[in-house]
Amino acid sequence: MTAPAAVSAREGRRYEVETRGHEWQRDGEAIDIFAYQGGGDYHNGPRCVKCGYGFCQHCQSLPDEDCDGGAARTTAAAKQRMADAAPQLLDGMQAIALRCGDPLTMTPAQLQDALYAVHEMAVAALRLARGETGGDL
Ligand SMILES: [Zn+2]
Ligand SMILES: [Zn+2]
Repeated sequence: MTAPAAVSAREGRRYEVETRGHEWQRDGEAIDIFAYQGGGDYHNGPRCVKCGYGFCQHCQSLPDEDCDGGAARTTAAAKQRMADAAPQLLDGMQAIALRCGDPLTMTPAQLQDALYAVHEMAVAALRLARGETGGDL
């Protein structure tokens, strides 16, 4: 990236100055504009290290809520994580259901394996929703 392009890119980021109290996660010197992932390939933006709030910089230019310093974790970011985790949980459970086939023909051991798999999936989804893991289920 050339110097002039870097300057003009930063001028476009008003949230860098008008932070509303948020402290944006950094990648070295620069704000990490991939700290927030809004789903899909093209929704990303800054994320606050204090409260976890983030937004897509392509969809909006400024944060739409003040930083609460992390006091209340029911932020937009937390809701977004839950929204992200739910489809993964459903997909995972559907995959397990398809793999199992007819429950009436399953052995007790197979049923137990399936229940454990569902349980692990639910725990992983819960951890994802809480922001304890950044990975996949
Ligand atoms: Zn914040
Ligand atoms: Zn977007």
